[in-house]
Parts: sequence; C-alpha cells; structure tokens
Amino acid sequence: MKVTEERYLRERHCFDLAIRMIGHEARTQTIQSCTRLSEDRIRKLYRNFFKYSTTANIRRHRGKAPRRCEYFVETLATQFEATTLAALFIADGMLLQKASSATKEKNLGYGHSFCQIYDRFLDFHPSPRISFDHGWFLLEALSDANELALRACSVCKNWYPHDILGLRPLKCPGCRVLKLS
Ligand SMILES: [Zn+2]
Repeated sequence: MKVTEERYLRERHCFDLAIRMIGHEARTQTIQSCTRLSEDRIRKLYRNFFKYSTTANIRRHRGKAPRRCEYFVETLATQFEATTLAALFIADGMLLQKASSATKEKNLGYGHSFCQIYDRFLDFHPSPRISFDHGWFLLEALSDANELALRACSVCKNWYPHDILGLRPLKCPGCRVLKLS
C-alpha cells in the first residue's frame, strides 16, 4: 500500500471515530485523546455532519471534561449507572484487575471499544446521568484506582464502584436501596 493511501485510510478511520464520538456529544479534548485530530477538524466535522441536521439534536459541550470521582457515588442513581458501566468495562476487557500500559493507551481501537460499551450502556439507561465524557473519566478513574475502585459489597458480595477516600460503608447501591445490612 502506498504511503498516501495509508495516510488516507488512517485519516478516514480517525474521522469515522470522531463522528461517532460527536454523536455521543463527547467533548473536543476527549475526541482528541484518541484521534489526535485538531480542534479545527473536529469543529468542521460537527458543522458538516450535525450542526444543521434536522434529525439529530446533537449539542457541543464546552469547558473542561469532568474530573470529579465523587460524582459517581453522590447519589444512588449515578452509582447504579456507574456499576452498570463498570460491569461492561470488565466484560469487554477494558478494565482489568491489573492495569497495563497497553490497556491505557488511547488510540482508535480504545475509542471504538468505548463507544460500543457506551451504546450498550444506553440500552440499560436510555436517559443517563452519566454522560459519555463522565463515562470516559470513570474508566480512567477505575483503572488508576487512586480515588475510585471496585469493591465487593459487604452484603451481597457484588462488585461496585466505591469512593476510597469517602466514609460510606461498603454497601452496593442495590443493598442501600433495599436497606439490607
Ligand atoms: Zn450489595
């Protein structure tokens, strides 16, 4: 394959992923982290594919991407959703017990795998509180396991995202709702 063809295909793959992520209302910096596309190119993709669409109501979120771990455990609803996403990360192999540098590398494969997981997550939570960018950060936070980590519930033994620095008892959102102890 010629160099120009390879370059064209590589760009095409980047555009495909970027369009898929814009469709999930991902922030520009999230899209850039795995496509390496410039802000200008992402802006043009949004304008060409979504801005004037009469069928898709896609917004562009401004500002910094979410970086607060407490968000995932503040309410039962967000903790339920975070538990669903975490289970999908594990099932897909994106979240491993021992994170390796290979699993953390953000590339096109990482981006597509995440999109696939988030699509499945939407099947369970069609109007989610955890946005695409929040979910992106959740995977990073669980992989780092500095503030947020998977813990086994002291009652039912199921795994769920737990705030390591918080003072909450080790109970999953399900057992908290049912007030099991
Ligand atoms: Zn439980």
